[in-house]
Amino acid sequence: MLQTEIIKQIEEIVGEKHVLTDKEDLATYAYDGTTTWSHAPDVVVLPNSTEQISRVMKLAHTHKIPVTPRGSGTNISGGSVPVRGGIVLCTTKMNRILDINKANLTATVEPGVVLHDFNIRVAKENLFYPPDPQSFLSCTLGGTVAENSGGPLCIKYGVTKQYVLGLEVVLPDGYVLNIGGTTVKNRTGYDLLPLFTGSEGTLGIITKITLRLIPKPAARKTMMAIFDDMILAGAVVSDILANGIVPAKVEFVDNFVIRRIEEKMKLGLPVEAKTMLLIDVDGSQAAVENEAEQIIKLLNAGGAKVARLAKDENEANMFWKARSAGFAAIYSAASTVIAEDVTVPRDRLAEFIQKLDKISSESGFEIVLIGHAGDGNIHPSVFTNSREKEDLDRLHNTLTAIFEAALELGGTLSGEHGIGLEKQRLLSKALDPRAIEIMKSIKAVLDPDNIMNPDKIWERE
Ligand SMILES: Cc1cc2nc3c(=O)[nH]c(=O)nc-3n(C[C@H](O)[C@H](O)[C@H](O)COP(=O)(O)OP(=O)(O)OC[C@H]3O[C@@H](n4cnc5c(N)ncnc54)[C@H](O)[C@@H]3O)c2cc1C
Repeated sequence: MLQTEIIKQIEEIVGEKHVLTDKEDLATYAYDGTTTWSHAPDVVVLPNSTEQISRVMKLAHTHKIPVTPRGSGTNISGGSVPVRGGIVLCTTKMNRILDINKANLTATVEPGVVLHDFNIRVAKENLFYPPDPQSFLSCTLGGTVAENSGGPLCIKYGVTKQYVLGLEVVLPDGYVLNIGGTTVKNRTGYDLLPLFTGSEGTLGIITKITLRLIPKPAARKTMMAIFDDMILAGAVVSDILANGIVPAKVEFVDNFVIRRIEEKMKLGLPVEAKTMLLIDVDGSQAAVENEAEQIIKLLNAGGAKVARLAKDENEANMFWKARSAGFAAIYSAASTVIAEDVTVPRDRLAEFIQKLDKISSESGFEIVLIGHAGDGNIHPSVFTNSREKEDLDRLHNTLTAIFEAALELGGTLSGEHGIGLEKQRLLSKALDPRAIEIMKSIKAVLDPDNIMNPDKIWERE
């Protein structure tokens, strides 16, 4: 419990109405997108400027108060759950787009800008910001940088870190650090940008971001394919890439997800389809037509039951709307849902799906599949009930089996959701022990008192 005197000092920094202490308010900041973690903070602070954040951090540093940064709380790894209480520092009031520079193809933003608002704004300038986590309607740019988020477009365009050119970060002692800048090339000393990008709020609070933009592609085409066999669908994704075509997006959803979305949204999806692949190509009109034609041929040759272009823009948008509703559909289907985030090399996708099939029948858990097939990042989602002890033990073994199957194929533990609390248990299997030591040393240099989002990434010692 924080002393009243400290809360008063925070109120003096940010203003009384930007400090929440009511039990009901605190309860709403106890959660994130996961179904397994919750812990209420002692206070929620909603600052309006870097200067305010720096002053709050200086106070927290002096009194060794844990601080958990938070954007919209949509992460699905437990990252913004304040497990040690203390301060939740939520950036949603810092939501100004500070600059869009068409000549330099850059934008500078505050961390609380919602990704969708940003996309609408840059599209008005005929520009494009590709990283597209499917929580785009609510996630903040600060959250996406802290998680190094990806999404369907990452197969062609890369993840968030490929677009971060400059950052302003308030360090745990309140110092305002500036790294990178507005140049696309920067080889001056160690590159600290990728260290903070993906650091899950454990090294500092991101208060300003300069992002690289690209011109909006002139044309796009969407294709839909239905397969009776998910393994064939996985194999055809590798065929497309092996034929030298890099689509803008290749996503898949399984029959459970299709039926669940249809039940909730009545979009007219093919409910009988065992697997649906959604593919976008973009670029110049001529390139898009040529690539779409080749992809349809490859889909048919690879055993698709149906492979066709979306009839029009409306149908294309309907397919992608269904895909982005996928996680919501899954998360509302059971009392505990664990969505794994494993990633395998793209040419091992079909083998991985086969292994998941086996794990599902051996464990007795239904494992629902949704994911970014194009970059080998699958979210096998296991439904359970964390209140049932027996279920939980079996679940742990199943999750370990899923991860080990990915590892055997040269894969990794998390493609985009981060480690947070959810995946700590398996971290030592995923990383060289020396790499973990180095990471902990970096954390100790920047945050010697361990006040910045403590107990995340590594299990509490
Ligand atoms: C329906 C759904 C679909 C999703 N789809 C995808 C997807 O396709 N791809 C993907 O990568 N993720 C996806 N996610 C996960 C999540 O939305 C992303 O990780 C997102 O970037 C989190 O943004 P946020 O603003 O909600 O951050 P939060 O959840 O609030 O925070 C995420 C982490 O970043 C830290 N943090 C937040 N803001 C800051 C800051 N300013 N400075 C320092 N640290 C900070 C927090 O402490 C926490 O550790 C999905 C989630 C949902 C619920």
